[in-house]
Amino acid sequence: QLLERARYLLSAHNARQLPPDEGAEVAFAGRSNAGKSSALNALTRQNALARVSKTPGRTQQLVYFQVTPEAHLVDLPGYGYAKVPQELQAHWQAFIDNYFRTRDALKGLVVVMDIRHPLKDYDRQMLAYAVQRGLPAHALLTKADKLGRGQQAQTLQKVRKDMAAAFGDLVSVQTFSGESKQGVDEARAVIGGWLGL
Ligand code: GDP
Repeated sequence: QLLERARYLLSAHNARQLPPDEGAEVAFAGRSNAGKSSALNALTRQNALARVSKTPGRTQQLVYFQVTPEAHLVDLPGYGYAKVPQELQAHWQAFIDNYFRTRDALKGLVVVMDIRHPLKDYDRQMLAYAVQRGLPAHALLTKADKLGRGQQAQTLQKVRKDMAAAFGDLVSVQTFSGESKQGVDEARAVIGGWLGL
């Protein structure tokens, strides 16, 4: 599978630093600590791919990974960092807002949520960004290994229903674990489809 070819390409902290708006890209969003880096590593079958996103100073950048010259994964900054100064917060909001509204290459959004704390305000905002533009979004309920099978199924059903009611049929959801690799193939199929791989 081509996702394994993912390599760090660049980090952008403003619109001018983005690569040309060509080809296809899939963006990854999630609250800090939700398990987004672990998910990116599991999906690309690499141990440290997303470590670069956590480098101090890079937490407020879009980190691009190249899969092929026409296909990219984009790691959005983990939201929920309390310590970001308000001015920077506003700059970010505008940048991300603009990115979602205007980026032609963006073909889909993956929202990573801890299965024990799904659909917080920020998650809903990211899903709304995608759906407003007619883009599909796929949610990973990660750290599924922390719950038993029964609880996983129950949460999945509840979140699926809630998301469908709020966002319609452009959104989908599955259970996932970067630890046990549960759900990796399912997620890779969705992302690979969006990227045209
Ligand atoms: P990020 O801030 O969203 O990038 O989160 P990380 O991927 O760095 O994960 C945050 C913490 O959750 C780390 O301690 C990970 O080891 C742990 N973690 C991430 N994914 C999983 C998972 O699927 N299962 C379990 N049990 N722990 C996980």
